[in-house]
Amino acid sequence: MPGLLIYNSLTRKKELFTPINPSEVKMYTCGPTVYHFTSIGNFRTYTSADILLRVLEYNGFKVKYIMNLTDVGHLTGDNLGDADTGEDRLEKAAKEERKTAWDIASIYTESFLTDFKKLNLTKPFEFVKATDHIQEQIDLIKKLEEKNLIYKTSDGIYFDTVKFEKNTGKKYGELSTLDQIKEGARVEPNPEKKNPRDFALWKFSPKNVKRDMEWESPWGIGFPGWHIECSAMSMKYLGETIDIHTGGEDLRSTHHPNEIAQSEGATGKQFVNYWMHGSFLKVDGKRMGKSLGNAYTIKDIDDKGFSPLDLRYFYLGGKYNEQLNFTWEGLNSAKIALEKIKNQLEIIKSNKDRNVISNEKLEKLDKYRNDFISSLNDDLNTPKALATLWEVIKSNIPSQDKYDLILDFDEVLGLDLSKQAETKEIPENIEKLIDERNKLRNEKRFEESDNIRDKIIKLGFEVKDPAKNE
Ligand SMILES: [Zn+2]
Ligand SMILES: [Zn+2]
Repeated sequence: MPGLLIYNSLTRKKELFTPINPSEVKMYTCGPTVYHFTSIGNFRTYTSADILLRVLEYNGFKVKYIMNLTDVGHLTGDNLGDADTGEDRLEKAAKEERKTAWDIASIYTESFLTDFKKLNLTKPFEFVKATDHIQEQIDLIKKLEEKNLIYKTSDGIYFDTVKFEKNTGKKYGELSTLDQIKEGARVEPNPEKKNPRDFALWKFSPKNVKRDMEWESPWGIGFPGWHIECSAMSMKYLGETIDIHTGGEDLRSTHHPNEIAQSEGATGKQFVNYWMHGSFLKVDGKRMGKSLGNAYTIKDIDDKGFSPLDLRYFYLGGKYNEQLNFTWEGLNSAKIALEKIKNQLEIIKSNKDRNVISNEKLEKLDKYRNDFISSLNDDLNTPKALATLWEVIKSNIPSQDKYDLILDFDEVLGLDLSKQAETKEIPENIEKLIDERNKLRNEKRFEESDNIRDKIIKLGFEVKDPAKNE
């Protein structure tokens, strides 16, 4: 097998994936800030991470996968290009919803985990919360303090990016796609920062304000900056250098360069070997945003009569690092396609063993398996992998093999096709009743057909008629 190629945002090249320790790949994904329902845009990123995880496993790797939940310190200034200013999103939501920040964290963590499951995303080794790791974050800042990489201003403790470059000989912000990381053009520069690119490691609670979430620290009462949690938790669970770190493309220009700087500043070692970034999801060709009212959630998907797995199929129709445009029509096409696959699977299942096996058909089987994994191993090309799935469905390979192959593909696709395949066998007497009923329905003898329907239900079977077109 030629191996797995992934596009590394750090080197800006597709590279052959080589793990540090082949017996266990270490992978970390920047998870959501739990102050609101997670949008389908963010869920696209987590679905891509899930595909990566499944492809690694399909390639025979064991993976230790960690995802964080940000429940403190992510400030609203991030929207304007300066994550060190503005209000804490959780404290702000708490005020708006008349709850505590702790309540907000627990409510939206719960909903995130429910939606996560609905999308059939693989549960990480652990979901780790920033507020459960305050000590680890303080310890990491202390390490940076020992290395003279921090300084104090009136509102917090900052990381000194200039000293970082001088001391380590590394460049700050290599990952960034911006030529220069400028302090947001729309925000007032913080005059106390030594350099606009410096960022907060610890923020002090504002004077005379009691925050819901605040902790003692060697520098004063306050809360961690947004970036430090990912460095601290990644190191705690996965070690100082890990294989793969993934996240949305919005994290590429500040959050992730900051993670690198503070981690490598503390350890002197490379933090991550492969950085992978998922592209945005657009909606109706436009930017998605909470303030624009188009940041749809899984609840919106449910409410419109779709299954979250329809959305999963829709996501797979785009390559993770290319822009994808969400429309309700697009989601509907995904739903129809998934329905078709399930129906075909039923047919294939009932056809089992009726096809004649030939060498030509078996060669095809190998070719499909190969095409499928080659597409995925080429930087997770899910649209191509789906195309192979359809080729398989339409092919003349033996039904049993076809059936097995489709379920094998689903180990990566995660469309829960095996559930579909598990439907119970229908006994002969029931089949007879169904045939009889269908005949009566065709003859529009509905009273008689309804009697048979009741009989079938009494025998413990469900009767589902194809949905009427609206
Ligand atoms: Zn990250
Ligand atoms: Zn992060």
